[in-house]
Amino acid sequence: MPKVDLTAKQRASRNCTHTDAAFEVSYAKRVCEECAANGDTWVQLRICMTCGHVGCCDSSRNRHARAHHVATGHPLIKTIEAGPDWAWCYIDDAYLD
Ligand SMILES: [Zn+2]
Ligand SMILES: [Zn+2]
Ligand SMILES: [Zn+2]
Repeated sequence: MPKVDLTAKQRASRNCTHTDAAFEVSYAKRVCEECAANGDTWVQLRICMTCGHVGCCDSSRNRHARAHHVATGHPLIKTIEAGPDWAWCYIDDAYLD
């Protein structure tokens, strides 16, 4: 299963005080399970750095990654899309750079 972790630079970011809640996580499938269960589609996928929950992004209709943060308090996500490697904290409303 693909593994995801914060980079050393992201972990050292001054933009966020929640990196203790981030761990190495992994995911089995590139799918938003909650959308798939409803027959819905999504735009991009985000992974929760506390528990590995995969959910759809804020540009998606259902915003399941954000809903997971609201439900659990887990603060940090990373993209699992191809392209730039970034991490985001919902609480600080900031990228970890
Ligand atoms: Zn934070
Ligand atoms: Zn979704
Ligand atoms: Zn989580």
